[in-house]
Amino acid sequence: MAKFVVTPANPAQREAWVGGTIPGVERVRPGLWSIPVPIPINPLRYVLVYALELPDGVAIIDAGWNTDEAYDALVAGLGVAGYAITDVKGVLVTHIHPDHYGLAGRVRESSGAWIALHPADARLVRERYDDEAIDSLVQRERALLRRCGVPDLTLDDLAGASMMIRHMVTMARPDRLVEDGDDLDLPGWDLRAIWTPGHSPGHLCFVSPGRKVLFSGDHVLAKITPIVAVHPQSGPNPLADYLDSLDAVRKLEVEEVLPAHEYRFLELAERVDTVMAHHDDRLAEIERVVGEAGAAACWDVATRLTWSRPWETIPPFMRRSANNETLAHLAWLEAKGRLVKEPGEPDLWRLP
Ligand SMILES: [Zn+2]
Ligand SMILES: [Zn+2]
Repeated sequence: MAKFVVTPANPAQREAWVGGTIPGVERVRPGLWSIPVPIPINPLRYVLVYALELPDGVAIIDAGWNTDEAYDALVAGLGVAGYAITDVKGVLVTHIHPDHYGLAGRVRESSGAWIALHPADARLVRERYDDEAIDSLVQRERALLRRCGVPDLTLDDLAGASMMIRHMVTMARPDRLVEDGDDLDLPGWDLRAIWTPGHSPGHLCFVSPGRKVLFSGDHVLAKITPIVAVHPQSGPNPLADYLDSLDAVRKLEVEEVLPAHEYRFLELAERVDTVMAHHDDRLAEIERVVGEAGAAACWDVATRLTWSRPWETIPPFMRRSANNETLAHLAWLEAKGRLVKEPGEPDLWRLP
């Protein structure tokens, strides 16, 4: 079957993404702006912040990473839309990852805006606040990797882990907790929250039925599929959560999907089907690899899968996410009874 390719809402925005540049600030439709905010040392290059005009200012969806460059880009982008940073009344954050949540605290300091987040991600912010909690998080990650059969952890791996967490620690606590189905109560907007756990436990999408647009965060993107991985804060079966969350948005009647990365596009249901098919293929591949191996640790399974480049050339930090993504698929297969796990050091996976 030919792979479905989505239609970009604005071809120039897609061209900028494909061409390795940053697209311009854009009025998507009356009262709605797209502001690309650069993120450092990351192949995603930018997060798309959306500014929603209100009678007395704007609300923004996502904020960007906490750097001066990102803050300046956000201020400049709001300027193009005719607003100052002090006009921001609220920051709706799709999820806790630093490229979305990192800058929210600074925006609040500048403007007095409230910050909204789903409780399941808000809980993670709190957990990462004190040094003891961070240590225990790193220990739990190490234990998890050991059970996966990851060979001698390199210093690079661990440095990566603590650096990632340090970025989290500077994050502000939210002022508003938003649950599934909540009306965001923004004047002039019929914006409703949809809880879409998977990529992160508290991921939120926002839909405007009247304007027929979906702000999809990292949940559904035009070309890439978000990382869905088991880690100490993920819950036991994040892939099941993610696939259920795809179902939750698939039937929405929207004309345009406004994601946090890459570019806006038109066909939501077809894109969701493609992402689901991708995971089906991955699950089948993993089942086959385990069958061939007889019994295998997660790390061994990961090394035998097809990745976008040869395993040997994947840097250590990314190998760890590859391992944790593989574990998410193994956990899903176990829950369905398609694989069994023999607990140990490492845990071994085999066909039932
Ligand atoms: Zn993310
Ligand atoms: Zn992201």
